[in-house]
Amino acid sequence: METHEERLERKLNETFVCTICGLYNEMHDAEKTTEAGIECVSCHTKFMGYTKSELHIVFQMVRDPENWKNPIKAYINRAYAEKADAAVGFFTGGPATISSVPGCPDMIEVTAPGYYLSCGP
Ligand SMILES: [Zn+2]
Repeated sequence: METHEERLERKLNETFVCTICGLYNEMHDAEKTTEAGIECVSCHTKFMGYTKSELHIVFQMVRDPENWKNPIKAYINRAYAEKADAAVGFFTGGPATISSVPGCPDMIEVTAPGYYLSCGP
């Protein structure tokens, strides 16, 4: 007969698929069980209302492809403005400047000092 502790231990060593990022995670990273399934800690923890995975996707659009810690200057669709602002704050620790692009109402320019200047090496 399995004891309560053994059952707990077994549970912790199991894995689950996060409903948001779709990655396999260990049970001890499980954060929240919803009707749809289980969310991992990274996805469940929100920054400015967005999950880390959402922010990660948008950060990929604005980061310097050579080095994500470099200063940021990118042009993206206006629809991502708020997420980009949150993503830059989350990943670089500094503010983003969002500006309109003359002649391109659907685009915005995102600039930021980047991680090195905001947080150091
Ligand atoms: Zn996840």
